[in-house]
Amino acid sequence: MTLSATPPAKPVPLIGVMGGTFDPIHFGHLRMAQELADALNLAEVRFTPSANPPHREQPMTSAAHRSEMVSLAIADNPLFKLDTRELSRNGYSYTIETLQSLHEELQGNGRLCLLMGLDAFVGITSWHRWQDLLQFAHIVVATRPGTALPTENAMLHGFLQAYALTNVQQLHEKVENGILMQEITALDISATHIRTRLAQGQAPRYLLPDRVLEYIRQQQLYFLREQ
Ligand code: ATP
Repeated sequence: MTLSATPPAKPVPLIGVMGGTFDPIHFGHLRMAQELADALNLAEVRFTPSANPPHREQPMTSAAHRSEMVSLAIADNPLFKLDTRELSRNGYSYTIETLQSLHEELQGNGRLCLLMGLDAFVGITSWHRWQDLLQFAHIVVATRPGTALPTENAMLHGFLQAYALTNVQQLHEKVENGILMQEITALDISATHIRTRLAQGQAPRYLLPDRVLEYIRQQQLYFLREQ
């Protein structure tokens, strides 16, 4: 009897899902999404602002403001889409529920890649139903040159070891979803730093799109004082 190799998956577009609080969205998020879209040949990237994040303190601004800022930030990029499904759900915004509903919507006509930075991946074993995430999407972890996973989390290392993908092609061809570590030239920008600058009355120009900064100014978010 000869053993036949598993046939490759049906070729379908890969769709990136970029979750976050985006409080506010900045060039670190946008650059990461663009680099991954280029490297993985993504057909689109869905930005899904979290309405009620379970693993961190509540955002400073409303989900409506954060979605509007995402919308302004991505308006000139045809690859980037805003997805507000987490805003219409009650309770915590669990990523597993977002992926499941996207997966059902696609009906096999696309494959999801959950995009996240290494800092987010390090905490993934505390997420609601984290072991089920791969049922609905690949996980793509954006890493910076010279960064590595902390060694003390054995569960995380086990998860990675069991499901690691070794190249981009496998995202398209492997039938089972897996985890890909993809190096990017990340920008050292955080929303926390931007909020701090704004609260101190400093305009964080060149860290986020001008249109977003303009919106922050108009809506007087983050205690921005007039310059
Ligand atoms: P905060 O400072 O409020 O924690 P943040 O800037 O880290 O916010 P989030 O909305 O929490 O932004 O992050 C959403 C996603 O974007 C996460 O997967 C995170 O790893 C990633 N990310 C955040 N900042 C960067 C950056 N500068 N470069 C690449 N990825 C980033």
